[in-house]
Amino acid sequence: MTTTAITNIGSLVTNDPALGDESPLGLLRDAAIVIDGDRIAWVGPTANAPAADDTVDAGGRAGIPGFVDSHSHLVFAGDRTQEFNARMSGRAYSAGGIRTTVAATRAATEEALEANLTHYLREALRQGTTTFETKSGYGLTVEDEARALRIAAQHTDEVTYLGAHIVPPDYADDPAGYVALVTGEMLDACAPYARWVDVFCEKGAFDGDQARAILTAGKAKGLHPRVHANQLSYGPGVQLAVELDAASADHCTHLTQQDVDALASGATVATLLPGAEFSTRAEWPDARRLLDAGVTVALSTDCNPGSSFTSSVPFCIALAVRDMKMTPDEAIWSATAGGAAALRRTDIGRITPGARADLALLDAPSHVHLAYRPGVPLVSDVWRQGKRCR
Ligand SMILES: [Zn+2]
Repeated sequence: MTTTAITNIGSLVTNDPALGDESPLGLLRDAAIVIDGDRIAWVGPTANAPAADDTVDAGGRAGIPGFVDSHSHLVFAGDRTQEFNARMSGRAYSAGGIRTTVAATRAATEEALEANLTHYLREALRQGTTTFETKSGYGLTVEDEARALRIAAQHTDEVTYLGAHIVPPDYADDPAGYVALVTGEMLDACAPYARWVDVFCEKGAFDGDQARAILTAGKAKGLHPRVHANQLSYGPGVQLAVELDAASADHCTHLTQQDVDALASGATVATLLPGAEFSTRAEWPDARRLLDAGVTVALSTDCNPGSSFTSSVPFCIALAVRDMKMTPDEAIWSATAGGAAALRRTDIGRITPGARADLALLDAPSHVHLAYRPGVPLVSDVWRQGKRCR
């Protein structure tokens, strides 16, 4: 196998305190990385770097682990420009706009859905995302949900069954019948393609009892839970997520003290999605409160055509720092190691020997520039599974 050394990395985020300066980011100055195949083989000072087949001189640029975007909705068709435009002209956001995308997705061909997915994956990769999770949830029939997951599974291992996104119009008068479908025939058809089961636990979507039934049925089929929780209002989602040992409770915008205490005492990561608050002009989640309570926080895009149509993790980092009171270091950690924790992965989100060779170089001397220079395309080089893709 070919080895590649990347030398003269001015400042490297490893997320391994022991490798670097003992901070959570494990910062290393004048660093080098050796990649062997799809793995990191060596990390240390450039002066000590072992010989490799190829060498890339980073010229003092900063290096970071590839972003782990642990929450996206990329199997969809159609466009919701008008809805966004109307919202930015004063109309409020509700969960119902999802139905527009459901109609367009059902009408699309498999080829069109896959082309759309790969378009946004390439877009995300250019911006440094080397791992992404993505969900179904715009099909909401047995065939359309299974189709979405089958397409997603060809592009990532982190596939989430979200048949319980909303109750589709065809079941408007029979929500119990829809929950029976989601926990029965639809689950049977979808489970072979998915690792995770998710539910939008929210007023206008699914209540606590329905969410419990859906997540429990998914667990019985070998899927692991994650929950859209407490986005638009207070509710049972976060505590249900902790109780069922969900890998992540996502959004966490409206939290009681009991919710924060539950997250702090359990293994469930709080995934914050500030693109959604940005795009709906909603109240920001209180990241500071969660971090100060000792909760593990991940940062992700929620990329979807309705409420957060950004694939840019750097943009979310900038929002988290300015508007959610995270420090730049915390935001970078949450978008890399935090995302990995939200997917219960230890092989990604860090630059340590044995980890997957997923990393990015920035056209900047420090990772802090991701927040300091918002909106600037700083990601200059990307390696994914050891392959240079940018
Ligand atoms: Zn979402």
